[in-house]
Order: sequence, then structure tokens, then C-alpha cells
Amino acid sequence: MTIRTARLIRVTGQVQGVGFRPFVHRLAQRHQLAGWVRNTPSEVQIGIEGGRCEVESFLAQLVAEAPPLATIDAVDVTAAEPDGRHDFAILESAPGPNRQSAPAPDAGLCGTCELELFDPRSRRHRYPFITCTDCGPRYTVIQAMPYDRERTSMAVFRQCPACLAEYHDPGDRRYHSESNSCPRCGPQLWFADDSGVRRDGDPVAVAAAMVAGGGIVAVRGLGGFQLAVDATSEAAVVRLRARKHREAKPLAVMVRTLVEALAIAEASEAEAAALVSAARPIVLLERLPDAPIAPSVTPGLTTIGVMLASTPLHHLLLELADRPLIMTSGNASEEPIAIGNAEAIERLHGIADGFLLHDREVVERYDDSVLRMVDDEPVLLRRARGFAPRPLGLPIPTPVPLVAVGPHLKNTFTLAHGSRAFVSQHIGDLENLATLDHFRAALASYQRLFGLEPQIAVHDLHPGYLSTRVAEESGLPLMGVQHHHAHVAAVLAEHGEARPAIGVAYDGTGYGDDGHIWGAEILVADLAGYRRAAHLRYVPLPGGDRAARAPWRSALGWAETGGLADAWRPVFAGVSAEEHALATTQVRRRLNAPLASSMGRLFDAAAAILGLRTSADYEGQAAMELEALAGRRPGAELGFGLAEADGSLVIDPIPLLAELADRRSRGADPAGLAADFHTSVAGMTGQVVRRLADATGLRIVALGGGVFQNRRLLASVRSRLEGAGLRVLVPRVLSPNDGAVSYGQAAVAAARLAANAIP
Ligand code: ZN
Ligand code: ZN
Ligand code: FE
Repeated sequence: MTIRTARLIRVTGQVQGVGFRPFVHRLAQRHQLAGWVRNTPSEVQIGIEGGRCEVESFLAQLVAEAPPLATIDAVDVTAAEPDGRHDFAILESAPGPNRQSAPAPDAGLCGTCELELFDPRSRRHRYPFITCTDCGPRYTVIQAMPYDRERTSMAVFRQCPACLAEYHDPGDRRYHSESNSCPRCGPQLWFADDSGVRRDGDPVAVAAAMVAGGGIVAVRGLGGFQLAVDATSEAAVVRLRARKHREAKPLAVMVRTLVEALAIAEASEAEAAALVSAARPIVLLERLPDAPIAPSVTPGLTTIGVMLASTPLHHLLLELADRPLIMTSGNASEEPIAIGNAEAIERLHGIADGFLLHDREVVERYDDSVLRMVDDEPVLLRRARGFAPRPLGLPIPTPVPLVAVGPHLKNTFTLAHGSRAFVSQHIGDLENLATLDHFRAALASYQRLFGLEPQIAVHDLHPGYLSTRVAEESGLPLMGVQHHHAHVAAVLAEHGEARPAIGVAYDGTGYGDDGHIWGAEILVADLAGYRRAAHLRYVPLPGGDRAARAPWRSALGWAETGGLADAWRPVFAGVSAEEHALATTQVRRRLNAPLASSMGRLFDAAAAILGLRTSADYEGQAAMELEALAGRRPGAELGFGLAEADGSLVIDPIPLLAELADRRSRGADPAGLAADFHTSVAGMTGQVVRRLADATGLRIVALGGGVFQNRRLLASVRSRLEGAGLRVLVPRVLSPNDGAVSYGQAAVAAARLAANAIP
């Protein structure tokens, strides 16, 4: 005899607009359970009844087998009285503003849709806009909330009877799929030549032929235009770089399948899982020496960014082109990506040879996300398509809604209220008006989408940042947050940590409390405040900001400071005598040579000393090449100096740099020295942090700042500190780099506001 039992279940999280109700329906049927499911403004509610065993396994599978785009925060189960139902029904949504909860971010083509795409019997055979509730565009097409078709750029496409039938059938994969369409009723694709004139023929075939012939095709993707180029052709890649004015920054490669990815790069199981995940990020992998990829794709590096096709259009194009393609953002260097057809034809004139266009408008600009595995756990280096703006928590809720405007480079902003923080997609470097416009437009749309009217603007202390200017223009009360405190707070907050900790912030540059450039800061901090417990010794940086693109300038600062200018003469052999003399004067007279304690610039100096490069095409290039050069070689720990001044420990790298230069001049292998440099920085960091931990009794350490994009350094600092029994928090869902700063600013502001709030 079976005992009938009943449960009321409430599920919260990202469970609406992701096919959750049809999933519950199917699961209940599989277990022969009766009941109902419905959306409410804040959750999904389920009533089930049936045999006890069936109810138990239903509950277990509810979480284990949830739809791929769902994220479940909590499942609340209470006993209920069986009411003798025999069927299962999807009920009308409960009253209230429906689907207030945000939908999931954009998702790559799912396996089922991929099968249909290539199935000649399917009515969506080779249809470039095929989607279902498990896949397709979300934030890139939403104009306003709640997420319903009439408030997306799909609104202009009226579903045909066949599509509508799917849309209204709870048993169908496309039940309430807001982007549902087919060749009869959906968006259309066409090919245009470089002046925008429409060409006849199958647009994908024309584009594929152009790419295969070495041409550059601008493809209208999910979050904006991408430029597609044959990744196996050196000539094509060189032409792309010349036209985009992108000298050396690595380019990402797109392939259709995991097998094709494995022909290009090594991938662990965790890396493979990241590649095929719904977000379809660019994953940084170790490139295979014999990969069929043009050398100019990743000059000087051993890693390569690989992503799998994310849209049906990508699949069709890659299938016909039949080779790995470069997929890079459709812009001139340093500008935001183009999103509109006319805009792209104008802005990409002279770059693209042809355009693959369609008439589904891109509402929001989203770059591709970039991810790297460290110790088999993902670290997001750029958080955009597929991830943003999934809300993050704040360990100390903010009593008033706020906006944190972020820093200058790799900008994001954060809107927060209570314990929810919406971190924007990667906006870019706020160095031109176009990017600033992108920032303002995205901020306005986030305020609209999430109904948040900020009452305080939080900003970086640097007076010259354009983001700071935006905060000032807002007319809101202002709160300034120190850059490296924000880095540390971002890591603490992402891990839900509100207790005091030791924070290590290593980056290129950030404005210090004393007006100098900071960038190698070890703080004793909590969310509300900090003390600068240790930092790198100050060195004058001749030319200031120009040093980021000229590693020799950092080396010169250290050479002059350490009285090593004569011994290091070979380091500056490639620098013009005139420039060298001017920079030396700048350092000696302290003219246009601001003091800096920057770890990024220390990496630059080491790269210059090892003869790797004296100039750089982008910030961080020398450091990335130094990491590549070190590879997996074991390194020796060379010494630093350590002194105490004004209550802070001051770390002096001159002994280390002098030793590297000396060994190099005696013919030591630069690769081994690069490994020694990494090991030495990790060793010094471990030593200083352990000393502070002993002095303060703190057991938690947070690592942040762009320098920790270096996998070798991050893993090695982490293992040393964990070996000493400390709990180490590292960036995961937000980048180690400045992409996390706005979230850190929000976490700091929230903690300060909460402390001052009158209960
Ligand atoms: Zn699908
Ligand atoms: Zn249709
Ligand atoms: Fe930074």
C-alpha cells in the first residue's frame, strides 16, 4: 500500500524565463505525481502529491536536473494536506507585477536546437535565429522589464500560427520562449558589401567564401558586431591587425566543437566544461605547439583564447568556412563595439570587406566574456555576455540605493540596493567620448531595468578619471573609495566575507591616499576601512602614465634609485639616447616622474632587465610575456629588502632586480630568471602576509588586482599562504583587474552607510 503525501515547495533564484515550469511539469509526470506549478512575482511555487518515494525523488531531482539556465538560490519545502488531485497543471501566474525577477543572461545555442539547425526535416533547418527556453538572447534584446516579448527587439516579429502553438504549449520546449521565431515569421539575414550594398545569394555562403579567401567579414552577433577572419591565414590576421590598429593584443579564436578546440589547445576537464557552458566564454588555454593557427594571433604568448560557437549564425558560418575563425570585437581599437547595421557600415568602413547583417536589433552592447582556469576553478577575466548582469550579493546590505561608477580602465559600474548588486558588463577604457556614451547609456538602461534610483554616487579618489566626473555630474551626494581598498573589498564581498582580513592588491596603478601612484599594497582591511600595512618601495616613474607602454622607463626608475644605472646599461641599449637622457633627467630632477609603488611596473622592469622588451603595445604585455617565458619551470627564491617606515612595511625589490640583471649579464637563461622572478614575488608576498597575520591574528587573506591575472603568481601565492594555514580568497566571479573595482566600491559604501545608518 502506498501512502499518499503532499508538499508545498517554494523555489527562489533565477527560475523564471528559463523553462522552469515546463520542467517541473515533466518531472512530476515522470514520477506520476499530481499537483500544480505557478510563478509569483518573487518565486516559483509548486504543489505536489503522490507516493512518498516518488515525492522524495522528485525533490532530489528538482535541483539536480533543473534547466541549464536556472540558478536556484533556495528551495523551501513544507508538508501539506493531499487534496486528491489526479492531474498536473501549470496555473496562471499569481497576481502582482509578474516576472519581476530578472531573466538569465544570454545563452549559447543548446544541443537540441543545434540538432534541429542541421536537421533537413526541421522547419528551422539552417535558420540563423533558432532558439528555445534553454538558449538564445536575453539582455542583448531587452528594452524594459518584465521580460516579455513586447518589450524586446523581437516585438516587431509577430509569431506565425506554428510558432504561437509552440509558445502556448506547456509540453513544448518553446513554451513562453520570448525569442521564438522561424523562417516564416522571424528576423532575416543578408550579406552586404563594404559599402553596405545588399548582395544576392545565400548570405552565409557568401560570407564564408569571403573569409576563406582571406577577407574580413563583420558579423552582427548577440551583443554587437564581431569581425571574422581566417585564423589559419597569417596574411589575413596581419591585415586585420593593421586595419584595426591593434598591434599585438592577443585575438580569440572560435571553433564549432570541443574536438576542434582540442586541436588548437590543451584543455583540462574543467576547461572543457567552461568551453561548452551556456555562457560560451573565451577560455584562455595553453596553445599546442603544432596548432594550425597563424603566429600573429597571439604573438609572444603560449596561451590562446578559444571559444565555441555561441549563436546559430556562428554555427552556420563556421560549418561553411570549415576552419577556425578569429572572432574579435567589431570596432576600431579602444572604441565600443558597433551594434546597429548603419553604424557598423560607417564605423567599420575600411576595416571590414563585407557585412553579415540582420534585422533583429541589438539593444545592449555586450563583449565576449573571458575566463581562465586557476587550480581548476574559473576566474573571470572579463565579465560580459553570458554572465552580466546576474546579481551578486553584498555581505553588508546598503540601506540606500547607490551607484558605484568604477575606475578609468576596464570600467564597469555597479547599481546596488539592499544586499543585491548589479555589476554591469565590461564597458571598456573611459578614454574617448564613444566609450563614455556607452557607459551613460548602459547605466540608464540598468536603472530602468532594475528599477533602481541611486541616492549616492561612489567613485575612485583619482580626480582626473572620467568616471569620477560622471559621479560629480549626477548631482548626488558623493563618496570616494580608495582604489586598492575597492580591489580587496570586491574579493571579500564576492565571498560573502565581512570580517577583517589581510588584503593583497597588486595592479598597475591606482590613486593613493598620499597622492602617489599605488599598486603593490598589502592592507589590513574590512569592508568599511583599511590600514596600509605594507607596500613596495616608491620609485620615480619617468613620463608617468607613459611608463605603462614603455617597460624600460620602470627599469630606469629602479636603476637610478638603486645607483645601478651603469651596471644596467645593456638594458637600455634599444632606447634612443635622447629619450634615455630626457627620462634620466626627469627622474633626477623629479620632473614628470611621479612616485609609484606599482607591482605591474615592477613586472615591466623585470621584463626589460631580462631583455624581453623595452616597449609595449598594451599595458600588461611585458608581464604576460614574462609569465609565458617562465612557463612551468621551477624558480628559485631571490631576496627582497624589507624595512619599516611610518608604521608600514616597505618592500624593496632592488636586491632582486640587481641579482636578475647580474645573472643575465653572466649569461643565465632568461626563462629560468623569469621563473625566479615569479617565485621571488610569491615568496616575498607570502613572507609579508604571514608576518602581518602573526602580528594581527587575522586568518583570512584576499588577493586582488590585475597582476593576479597571472596564473602562476596567483597559484603560487595562494599555495604558500594556505600552506601556512591561512584562508585565501581569490577573485572568481569578477575579474582580478579593474573590472571588479565598482563592485568593491559598492561593498565599501554599503558597509560605511550601514554603520552610520540610524536604526
Ligand atoms: Zn535551444
Ligand atoms: Zn514562425
Ligand atoms: Fe586596479
